[in-house]
Amino acid sequence: MTLIDETSTIPAGGPTLPQERRLVTELPGPRSAAILARKADAVAAGVGHTVPVAAVAAGGGVVVDADGNSLIDLGSGIAVTTVGNAHPAVAQAIAAQAAQLTHTCFMISPYESYVAVAEALNRITPGDFAKKSALFNSGAEAVENAVKIARKHTGRQAVVAFDHGYHGRTNLTMALTAKSMPYKSGFGPFAPEVYRVPGSYPFRDGLTGPEAAKRAITLVEKQIGADNLAAVIIEPIQGEGGFIVPADGFLNTVVDWCRAHGVVFIADEVQTGFARTGAMFASETFGIEPDLITTAKGIAGGMPLAAVTGRAEIMDSAHAGGLGGTYGGNPVACAAALAAIDAFENEGMVERAQQVGAILVERLTALKEKDPRVGDVRGHGAMIAAEFVDPETGEPDAALTAAVAKAAIAQGVIVLTCGTFGNVIRFLPPLAIGDDLLREGLDVVADALAGA
Ligand SMILES: *Cc1c(COP(=O)(O)O)cnc(C)c1O
Repeated sequence: MTLIDETSTIPAGGPTLPQERRLVTELPGPRSAAILARKADAVAAGVGHTVPVAAVAAGGGVVVDADGNSLIDLGSGIAVTTVGNAHPAVAQAIAAQAAQLTHTCFMISPYESYVAVAEALNRITPGDFAKKSALFNSGAEAVENAVKIARKHTGRQAVVAFDHGYHGRTNLTMALTAKSMPYKSGFGPFAPEVYRVPGSYPFRDGLTGPEAAKRAITLVEKQIGADNLAAVIIEPIQGEGGFIVPADGFLNTVVDWCRAHGVVFIADEVQTGFARTGAMFASETFGIEPDLITTAKGIAGGMPLAAVTGRAEIMDSAHAGGLGGTYGGNPVACAAALAAIDAFENEGMVERAQQVGAILVERLTALKEKDPRVGDVRGHGAMIAAEFVDPETGEPDAALTAAVAKAAIAQGVIVLTCGTFGNVIRFLPPLAIGDDLLREGLDVVADALAGA
């Protein structure tokens, strides 16, 4: 079946796409509108969308839609296409692998690419100790498995997660996730033995890192008891919760406490991983060595793949057959991951994330200085956010945030919002974006703010 007519008019994706913002229709144009109308009829209403276009090609810093509009991409499909959409080496690896072998099930007959991805992850994740990895399909599945492994290793059941945390949409990860709407509301009951404590949100709680850690640890000791606790799970920089960077010393204090009490410390780096924050992993930025790290999103340049990587003695605690899944570590996804990891390491992606971050911070800080509605600019590397507030009260301004995002999208710039209070615009551009295009995208956001 041909999906849309005149397929010959669709440009090839990847970095050869013209790197420009170009609107030839209002959004959505007629072709996108027709596809979105079919979506409304055919796809469950619970699967929403942010940008009202049907994408046909993407690469560098742009996404092209079915009508020929070219949008600046400041979201990377939620931090996934960090190496660039349709990155040539990734696309080539996928094509070659797909022509060779698409599936055997690694639990039936293993293959080398899965092993090579595990070796690469063991090598590039923080911590100079023996590590092992297991591969899965999604971030949520990686988180579920990290908790399974921690429970088996410790013989304990309780898990601590944090205010503003996001870990996925499956049952256990809904329990770990803080925000009710839209992630949890109406979908309970949730998995038991999950406890939530406050973390560190310097802009709103005004606590130092050690103070915030003490507050959390006291609650854990009094209300759960270290002897009952299998794991603490936290995103080093909280993603969906609002790009919240913890105060200095918070994570280190929590890690030290975990180590002293035999609690497995899990860093959920599904969003922060793979050069995104200007380091290969955000944990490095804070000087922590997690016992287990969950990864997904940026890992394979757009293919579905996820992993748990960590201390070999913890990873090996689960019995054979206790971990896995039909598709986990699919060979096509593994081939893509090997190409993507090669790009992260050998195409200067960590440095590029720092450069992209410097442009974002400079522009957004200038905006904050002249517009008090921008309450905070924060993040690391190419994971930067602006939090919007009512200048009088400091209260979150979700309506303003939504209006700015909507106006920017209408002008051909893909931006994403986030935050427990819905008042954060997050910037996660692909690292393949050019400086000029990035600056143009930020200008459009600034204009959208001025007009809101
Ligand atoms: C996106 C995300 C997840 C869930 O990943 P999926 O692939 O959507 O299941 C888990 N943790 C964090 C920190 C995330 O950003």
